[in-house]
Amino acid sequence: VPGRGAAIGTFSAGLLLAGIAAGVAAQAAAGPAVGVPWAQAPLLLGLIALASHLIVRFQVRDQVEALELTEAALAPTLVVFPGLAAVGLVVAAKGLVGALHRNEPIKAWFNVAQWAAATGCGAFVYALTSSGRAITGRNLAALAVAMLAVSVVNYAAFTVVLSLASRRSVRAVLAELRPSITIGWVGGSLVQFAFGVLFVATYVRSPAAVVVIAVPLVVLHWASRGFATARTDRVRLTGLQAATHALAGPIDPRDALPHFLAEVRRCFEAEVVDLLETTPAGLLRHRASDDGSYASATDSGESTAATLLLAARDRAVVVDARRDDAGLLAGEGWRVAAAAPVRAGDRTFGVLCVYNKGGAEGFEQGEVAVLEALAGEVAGALDKAELLEGMLEERRQLADIVGNTSDGILTLDVHGAVTSWNSGIEQITGFDAVAMAGRVPDAPLRPRDAHGEAVSWAAWADGTDLPDAIEIVTADLQSRWLSCSYTEVPARDGRGPQLVVMARDVTKAHELDKLKDDFVAVVSHELRTPLAPIKGWAVTLLQRGEDLTTDQRREGARAILRQADRLEQLILNILEDSKVERGLNTAPVDEVVDVAASVKKVVEDFAVLAPERSIVVRGGDAQVPVAGRAVRVEQVLVNLIANAVKYAPKHEPIEVTVERGVGAVLISVTDHGPGIPPEARERIFDRFERLADSPTQTGTGLGLYIARRLATTMGAELDMTPATGGGSTFTLTMRAATVDVVDLASVS
Ligand code: ADP
Repeated sequence: VPGRGAAIGTFSAGLLLAGIAAGVAAQAAAGPAVGVPWAQAPLLLGLIALASHLIVRFQVRDQVEALELTEAALAPTLVVFPGLAAVGLVVAAKGLVGALHRNEPIKAWFNVAQWAAATGCGAFVYALTSSGRAITGRNLAALAVAMLAVSVVNYAAFTVVLSLASRRSVRAVLAELRPSITIGWVGGSLVQFAFGVLFVATYVRSPAAVVVIAVPLVVLHWASRGFATARTDRVRLTGLQAATHALAGPIDPRDALPHFLAEVRRCFEAEVVDLLETTPAGLLRHRASDDGSYASATDSGESTAATLLLAARDRAVVVDARRDDAGLLAGEGWRVAAAAPVRAGDRTFGVLCVYNKGGAEGFEQGEVAVLEALAGEVAGALDKAELLEGMLEERRQLADIVGNTSDGILTLDVHGAVTSWNSGIEQITGFDAVAMAGRVPDAPLRPRDAHGEAVSWAAWADGTDLPDAIEIVTADLQSRWLSCSYTEVPARDGRGPQLVVMARDVTKAHELDKLKDDFVAVVSHELRTPLAPIKGWAVTLLQRGEDLTTDQRREGARAILRQADRLEQLILNILEDSKVERGLNTAPVDEVVDVAASVKKVVEDFAVLAPERSIVVRGGDAQVPVAGRAVRVEQVLVNLIANAVKYAPKHEPIEVTVERGVGAVLISVTDHGPGIPPEARERIFDRFERLADSPTQTGTGLGLYIARRLATTMGAELDMTPATGGGSTFTLTMRAATVDVVDLASVS
């Protein structure tokens, strides 16, 4: 712990002084030393150093403890050397081991001082309790008490230094150490004592045999190393498996990174694990810490991980702060770190770093291999994540195209149920994708072909040919024409075959087509009417011209002229109409028309065309100016009177009435024919609409349609009401003209 060096240093100095003082006191208590085997001092020093160096690990149930047999190795020294000499030997041995292990100076210093104090106390206790130099039962008991003193001082010093380093109370430290106390401390002390007795017995018998004592020490150490390796291997392999498993969980391996890093951390019993990733935007550091947290942040490139990234470009590296000359770990205060390159094929994604592995030792070879394996796993996962991202991107693009096109795209399964329904078809039909998913679209859309025959999209799987032009009914009951193309997608990846229908809304084009057809029909119907009398008169004049009087011939020529005029008017009218249709001429025309004159003209024409019919005109004597256009008024009248002539019996008179209303003029044509049933009164104004009971008369069902349209263009209205006494009255309601009557002369 930074900043605690001074406190620990001072405490250690106190321990050393206490050790020396205890050594001096031991010598005073033991009396003058006789026959001390000084020559064997190096041998005993070597034994203590060796015991300190060789750690023995053992496991009791789940708990693993580490033991140095220093105390046991110290036993012969305690028995044969004076107190101060024993302290000196221990100080020398511990100093040697600290230097060999390259321990931090403060740690080495504390170790030396701790053992000085423990040995001093042990020597003092032995001096007080032993008697003579022989190995008697009493002296063995004295050795046991002395070794107990060594242990107690050792553990006490250790506890105090822990509390100093971690700034916690001694009580808190002891509470934390409790699991170690029974097995590690008490059990350990017993083992030390047993070995100590062995060592003393051997040494007293033959000092040179101390060399042989080294053998069980080394063997024990090796055995415990084997055990430790097996144990760490198990932990690492379990960790490797858990971490790999974590990566395999989610569909996007990136989602597994926090879990994976936590497993890696657990696997190495490490404090922190970093995955440093090189991305186009810079370095990205994912970190799992021992408080269970995960965080990812951009890295400025100055972190330990970033430096390790450079170091571990080709293969795993292990850096130990004790041997870290480059100062790699110093910045972030790590004790030890291992890093392995995260590579898949020849691509390097970054580096996987583990800091401060559990235990005091560095990383072993097998562990580095495990780290490399983990790095390989995460590289594979990142590679997969990239692939997945690419696939998702492609899908997003495709979905964007399908979603944003105005063309309707739908797919059907073999049963004709909708498997996809894009926004284009949503807009065309007014049915949304949620409502249509899984439904057979035939029911709501009622598709029909160009001949009005029902079409079943659902039947595609039976090999039924589907028409290109299809009429459907939208959600708001409008008719829409679709131009469809069909693609059958065979079964793949466990999914059944599908029919892809691409549908384009061609309602506008279809309506235009129909309009053109109608136009041709209108033109031929209307043009034929005046042609008949022209031909009739022409034939009469040609064949029987000589038999006719001059007046009659003149009348014939006049009739031809009139009909030719009508034709001309019609043609003008059609041109006008097409302008109306194209939206060029929707504004009501505000010419002034003398309705009386128009009525007179039309009625006169009919007198010639149908001389057997009586047409009575009422209210058409004076000038009646209206806003409109003469040609159109006359054509409306022609259509109405022609119908009256056509549908009413010959003997029934036809009445044409001109009435002035408020701001309006009403021109009505009344016949006493069959009349029109109430439910058909609006329908007869539709295109091609003919009533079922009028098949005896020829017609196209266009006359009233055109008449009403002409009326509308003049801001006038055309309606039908039943006539009093049977029959029908067609009334053209026109706006009265507000202009001076004076102008009328010129107009008429
Ligand atoms: P067309 O006369 O060519 O059939 P119209 O649009 O002029 O077409 O008339 C539409 C239908 O209205 C006619 O077929 C007829 O059934 C009915 N109709 C029109 N005028 C009369 C009338 N004066 N009396 C009875 N029925 C009529």
